[in-house]
Amino acid sequence: MPETRTFVASPEAKATARKFRTYAIIGWVVAMIGQVLAIMKLISDETLIALIVAIVAILAIAFFSGRFWKKSNKLDPTSEKNQLRFFLQNQLGAIMGVMCFLPMVISIFTSNNISGKTKAIAGTAASVAMTAAGISGAEFDAASIEKYSKEIEEQNKAASSVGINANNVFWSKAGNKYHAYNDCQYIKGKALSNGSIKESWEQKGISELCKVCRKRSAKASKVKAKAGEMLEEAVN
Ligand SMILES: [Zn+2]
Repeated sequence: MPETRTFVASPEAKATARKFRTYAIIGWVVAMIGQVLAIMKLISDETLIALIVAIVAILAIAFFSGRFWKKSNKLDPTSEKNQLRFFLQNQLGAIMGVMCFLPMVISIFTSNNISGKTKAIAGTAASVAMTAAGISGAEFDAASIEKYSKEIEEQNKAASSVGINANNVFWSKAGNKYHAYNDCQYIKGKALSNGSIKESWEQKGISELCKVCRKRSAKASKVKAKAGEMLEEAVN
């Protein structure tokens, strides 16, 4: 049954991802409008300070857009089967980060209306902002349906090896961990979901075993094994 092994983002995760994508796109639109206005109005010796302020503001918006975009891809990743789509979806934050400044950088360096000093200061500021927006928007650890499916499989094995039932774990809405015990100190008193490791991953975009629960379960399964040995010895 290969179907059941494949990661499928939960409807809630998809909805949150859609919301984050919308935020990112709105941010990029605002940043682009800001850039166009800055190019039209602020590339002059008299408005250098206003231009720097605009660059910082656009960088902040591009930064948050990139973060929302990357978060959405963690919650609802694409498949690696279509390599072009996989690349574009994961690196759109970097592409848009650069696009929020590239026309401005070109406009500054090709402007005939500003002094050499203004050109150097504004050009450097815009270039640094472009680099920062590009790097912060880049995805260096791209999620994919295939990667998530594989990681869930590995988590299942790791959990089973310390005696955890991979189909009976607990998690709260916040955080990115799942727990073997519903009375674990980290989730005590919180509203909990119960299900498989795969389901917790599909809701959160990523899910790792709580270290406290792992230790507790490893200890419990050791005790159990020991008791089994003793019982066997006693019987024999
Ligand atoms: Zn725990």
